[in-house]
Amino acid sequence: MLEIKNLFAGYGQTDTISNINLNVDKGETVSVLGANTAGKTTLLRTISGLTPRKRGSILFDGSELLDMEGKDIPALGIGHVPEGRHVFPKISVIDNLYLGAYSRQKDPEIKSRLEDIFELFPRLKERYHQLAGTLSGGEQQMVAIGRALMGKPQLLLLDEPSHGLAPIVVDEVHCAIEKIAATGVAVLLVEQNAALALQVAKRGFVLSSGSIVIKGTSSELAENPDVKKAYLGA
Ligand code: ATP
Repeated sequence: MLEIKNLFAGYGQTDTISNINLNVDKGETVSVLGANTAGKTTLLRTISGLTPRKRGSILFDGSELLDMEGKDIPALGIGHVPEGRHVFPKISVIDNLYLGAYSRQKDPEIKSRLEDIFELFPRLKERYHQLAGTLSGGEQQMVAIGRALMGKPQLLLLDEPSHGLAPIVVDEVHCAIEKIAATGVAVLLVEQNAALALQVAKRGFVLSSGSIVIKGTSSELAENPDVKKAYLGA
């Protein structure tokens, strides 16, 4: 579904991410781990066409994304849940969700997709008319994921979905990610919480200073001494 080859990207003269090679298959969850400023967010933003300077190749379902503009990418089937959620606080849950379907306004399946999202996150159905800014952090994360799902993505980019959430809500969100992947969606999951990411994902990559320094299955990463020391508190 996603195949990245020799990707370099950055904001100024220097590359923030360098020579990235990774792939994500349909229905697979792949994690990207790394410390603060490693370039994890930049990687996701580059896939979504939001980084100004880039070279290399980003193939999505066979189409080259590298020279595409960010505004055209969601309609291809890529959903992006940004770091910090960025829900629209002054409008209701339902209006936030409908904004995620702006590129598919004539899609007859919109109502049934909304029902699927309410099945995934029943709390959003209970809070249907509530202003998104009055929700808890976990509920706002559910809105952000639900909003991305309204665009019917085949690839979901998730930027630190567990950040700042209570452990019980983290479990709920991660359970939802597993259910989303089980429907065939490819998921690229950026997490600072490596232990959680390795539970949810089948494979993972470690980014350091913008480059992939370790890759492997989640069990290989969990056993890797450098990963244990740097990211698993061992
Ligand atoms: P964090 O977990 O703290 O979000 P990260 O691994 O996601 O870290 P990025 O946010 O991708 O890292 O940042 C990588 C580097 O790129 C940092 O040095 C950051 O200052 C820089 N950077 C990020 N966004 C911009 C921007 N819009 N303009 C210029 N530099 C940026």
